[in-house]
Amino acid sequence: MGAYGGITAFIVETSWKGWKVMKTEKKMGIKASGTAYVVLEDLEVPEENVLGKVGEGFKIAMETLDIGRITLGAGCLGGAKEAFEVAWKFANERKQFGQPIKNFQIIQHYLSRMAIDIFTLESLVYRTAWMADNGYDVIREASIVKVFASEVLDRVVDLALQIHGGAGYIEDYPVEKMYRDARINRIFEGTNEIQEYVIFKTLERRGGL
Ligand SMILES: Cc1cc2nc3c(=O)[nH]c(=O)nc-3n(C[C@H](O)[C@H](O)[C@H](O)COP(=O)(O)OP(=O)(O)OC[C@H]3O[C@@H](n4cnc5c(N)ncnc54)[C@H](O)[C@@H]3O)c2cc1C
Repeated sequence: MGAYGGITAFIVETSWKGWKVMKTEKKMGIKASGTAYVVLEDLEVPEENVLGKVGEGFKIAMETLDIGRITLGAGCLGGAKEAFEVAWKFANERKQFGQPIKNFQIIQHYLSRMAIDIFTLESLVYRTAWMADNGYDVIREASIVKVFASEVLDRVVDLALQIHGGAGYIEDYPVEKMYRDARINRIFEGTNEIQEYVIFKTLERRGGL
């Protein structure tokens, strides 16, 4: 039995005795998704609720995370595209000094930089998803997607907010929520610091790229 051999994955029903939500967290963003402190106490799990095999929980969790990190990348891609759309619309509609702000060169640069990041991320997500679908080992690639996607989303949403000026800081505009929602992606599904550790470990194991 390895270091994590004692871990078993299982499914519990929320109606069972011994399952309790201690606290529902108040968060900066992603408020549509509940995050709670859950306690399992004297909870008996029937054999049919074991997920996979007894002792294989860690392996299941790690495999789930590999796919989860690519899925997170796809989510960040969607978020970045949405942020671009609202910024594009605003840049066309908002007039300053008698013209749409889109006419100002720096706004054009911001929009171009967003497009570069989005195109690069889209290519990366599709390539890595293809690799996973075709049975490649994607431990490193999934971590690369996770880090890059969460950073792209942060950059794109930040520029989208900047293009909105003061309006971007006001709750009436969707970019304010996008900015708050984006931030968690560098933290959950394994922090970006841990992903870089995973990436380095695979470099070491494979003797380079
Ligand atoms: C809204 C939300 C939803 C979540 N959803 C889920 C979920 O669905 N499933 C789930 O399993 N978890 C979930 N989490 C938990 C999340 O995955 C963890 O918060 C995250 O992995 C970081 O763990 P931690 O908070 O204990 O940070 P810590 O481990 O305390 O880390 C603190 C800081 O130290 C750094 N650090 C820690 N260890 C090292 C190291 N060895 N080397 C270098 N730096 C290090 C971290 O990167 C971070 O910057 C969720 C968290 C939040 C906030």
